Amino acid sequence: MGEDITKVSELIDGDRRKWDEVLISRLFNPSEAKSIYSIPICSTRRGDKLVWHHSKDGKYQVKSGYKISKNLKECSDHTSSSSHRNRRIWKWLWALSVPTKNKVFLWRVCHNIIPTKLALAKRGVGLNPMCQRCGLDFETMEHAFRDCSWVEFFWAASPLRIRLPTIERRGSLTDWIERLAERKDPDSDNMVAMLLWSVWWARNELVFKGRTIEHHQLYTQATSRLEEHHQSAVLLSHENKMKANEVWSPPAHGYVKINSDASIMTDEGAGMGVVIRDDRGIVIETSYRFQPNLFDVEVAEALACRNGIFLARSLGLKCVMVEMDNQTLFRKLSRGDNDLSYLGYLVNDICDLFSSFDSIRPCLVRRSGNTVAHLSARCSFSESSLEPMWRTVLFWRCSPN
Ligand SMILES: [Zn+2]
Repeated sequence: MGEDITKVSELIDGDRRKWDEVLISRLFNPSEAKSIYSIPICSTRRGDKLVWHHSKDGKYQVKSGYKISKNLKECSDHTSSSSHRNRRIWKWLWALSVPTKNKVFLWRVCHNIIPTKLALAKRGVGLNPMCQRCGLDFETMEHAFRDCSWVEFFWAASPLRIRLPTIERRGSLTDWIERLAERKDPDSDNMVAMLLWSVWWARNELVFKGRTIEHHQLYTQATSRLEEHHQSAVLLSHENKMKANEVWSPPAHGYVKINSDASIMTDEGAGMGVVIRDDRGIVIETSYRFQPNLFDVEVAEALACRNGIFLARSLGLKCVMVEMDNQTLFRKLSRGDNDLSYLGYLVNDICDLFSSFDSIRPCLVRRSGNTVAHLSARCSFSESSLEPMWRTVLFWRCSPN
């Protein structure tokens, strides 16, 4: 920044609540300036706050600080081929059709963060680092999940009949899991995830409760849990299909309903749309805008929603329902969540506007019930090269859906 500018607020034209384009174009190159213009500004003045950029709500968490430092380290340690390899295994892992608990467990296995005896001993926990089953080797990740004779037999006799290569050719546990993943057989992959979890569960039963679990018990348990998961997934998708047919419904008598939505156009920015209808479903106003370089869908949804409320206020409407299909925004507006992200500021802005109405409440609708707002947002794509501003379709009578 220039010598005289020390705060971001100095780049904002305070009275107009807009970026000071003259100043910004003098201090930054055109592409930086474009990115700055895409950052939303609160409609009222607010004091400075310390914000942690790397979490969604702008609040610092040890977890996210740790993640950043780890990522930085990995970036400097890894060659591009290993990060390519990493991407592949994560894609594989998150696509598995197993309970979330098992996915997270597998993720921890692949990150080598399971508290094996050797890992704990290395951190100064005074315990015997040897495997409790065989007592022949340190309990490493490789030993606990693959190389201990008890586990080797477990894999061989499992429904997957996995025969391990000779010990010299096995490599790290992650290498081995990745080789299993390359078989591209979703059913076996799901079972691998369940069985890895079973191995650790049985190990904990032995270490902490002195209970020995038989192999066949573990196979039965893994198979039935997988079956249960699939059945509930089928039920859920059926319910979702039913709910996906939800259509727009008019607001209560005497109310108007604001529907807002946003849609991201890859590499270009965000389209935002608003439609206000009365209790007979008659369109009172529609509005749309394209904002270049805005790629955060929740921020775009919040901007659309805020504009809808501005519009309703300028039309002198007093009883309104504010309907959206974005769960995060809905949750934050309902609770008045006060976080430090851009989204948090916009949520505060919107909640402040609520006081201009006699009655106002946010509500959530499925996407299928928010079609007109969605189409308005998409409509702005064709005007992505024009100056970003809210434009109104003067009259647009449409069927209520
Ligand atoms: Zn062992």
